[in-house]
Amino acid sequence: MARFADVPEAPKDPILGISELFLADTSSDKMNLGVGAYRDDNGKPQVLKCVREAEKRIAGNFNMEYLPTNGFKDFIKHSLDLAYGEDSEAVKSGSIAAVQSLSGTGSCRLLAEFQKRFMPGCTVYISVPTWSNHHNIWRDAGCEQTTYRYYKESTRGLDFEGMMEDINNAPNGSMFLLHACAHNPTGVDPSAEQWREISKAMKAKNHFAFFDMAYQGFASGDCVRDAQSIRIFAEDGHKFALAQSFAKNMGLYGQRIGTVSVMCEDKAEAVRVESQLKVIARAMYSNPPMHGALIASTILGDPALKAQWYVEVKEMADRIITMRTLLRKHLEDSGSKLPWQHVTDQIGMFCYSGMAPEQVDKLRTDHHIYMTRNGRISMAGVTSGNVERLAKAMHEVTK
Ligand code: PLP
Repeated sequence: MARFADVPEAPKDPILGISELFLADTSSDKMNLGVGAYRDDNGKPQVLKCVREAEKRIAGNFNMEYLPTNGFKDFIKHSLDLAYGEDSEAVKSGSIAAVQSLSGTGSCRLLAEFQKRFMPGCTVYISVPTWSNHHNIWRDAGCEQTTYRYYKESTRGLDFEGMMEDINNAPNGSMFLLHACAHNPTGVDPSAEQWREISKAMKAKNHFAFFDMAYQGFASGDCVRDAQSIRIFAEDGHKFALAQSFAKNMGLYGQRIGTVSVMCEDKAEAVRVESQLKVIARAMYSNPPMHGALIASTILGDPALKAQWYVEVKEMADRIITMRTLLRKHLEDSGSKLPWQHVTDQIGMFCYSGMAPEQVDKLRTDHHIYMTRNGRISMAGVTSGNVERLAKAMHEVTK
């Protein structure tokens, strides 16, 4: 018998599987609103100008040696400053353990492996809904996972009471996976006031927060404002962990650039935690990629380039906000009697449209429009050229 005769074919990934179907579609009118990757108003992938400039500056100026297991020191420092703030005492005092890792996904996985080794018996609470890969990451790391309430279907907004109840009812010392900003897939974030209450409740329960920050800058267009959840937790004295990705906000998707950091009691604890993160990274991938780390640190380390990056992040966020306004307008103009206010209320890269899986299927089969079956639209793929057609098709399938 063939050695792998019993290996079943795996189901397609709910997000990447959509891209496969899209590629196989021969229609010239097809629209991919599945994967969360930014497109310009012509529907083309965009390389930021600051990235091109950084590339020019580093070209020919570095060798191809390995980075250390924990990555590029300058990049890590800039990354922490961006998340925690340049005036962060914790960053200055060295009480944050941090390593460069493989974008947001790799950072989550590294932390989950750390949890498995050093937080035995600690269950991770994951929001309903969430980015589908969160479940895979914690499953494969072998950690117990359960869920907490987050989204209220009836208001298409935050289920704040449900979330607080679940925080208060979880066993003391549980881990909560929180989206730092631009929650995927709902586009619904707690307000600053709500973050303060969440922080207070989690402190009282001695819960451990793990922030996944894949979209810093994409929620409000302002990288500092989008870090408010983290800064509130830091102010309140939490010891928490953070995954940062530079895939979306710098457009470095394929470079796999990110940081995982753990706020510790003091420098001595940070040294110990960091040493263990390195042990885990060493066995998984040995060391992280260099090119993107050089790009990101060149941008973050040069005031003029950083200022240009801030402008470009804001431009991307603003284009998405404009598309939300247009999508809602065209839906309303199309004669749809359904409420579409959530299209403009939600923030970040995604619109959690409220369409049912069968309606999403119809969009694909009848209109060549592709999105995940939970009705999540990647607004980054909507352009002034396709928004009206999208609205009309959505109206058709939701009549
Ligand atoms: N976390 C969330 C919530 C995401 O939406 C994503 C990407 O879609 C990621 C993490 C990871 O992205 P990457 O590994 O490309 O940085």
